[in-house]
Amino acid sequence: MEDIIMYACREHVEIAIDDFVNDMEAAPQITVTDNEICSYCNEKAEYRIGK
Ligand SMILES: [Zn+2]
Repeated sequence: MEDIIMYACREHVEIAIDDFVNDMEAAPQITVTDNEICSYCNEKAEYRIGK
């Protein structure tokens, strides 16, 4: 299975975690990121959600 990596701002991090868990059926690793764009609103992302 392909690894999923998502980026989320503070507002969308909970949605991103839900989507990750639904898709991967596993708890994500959440790390802070500085130069990515939120997958949900195209604002600056603060978190990387991945395996
Ligand atoms: Zn967002």
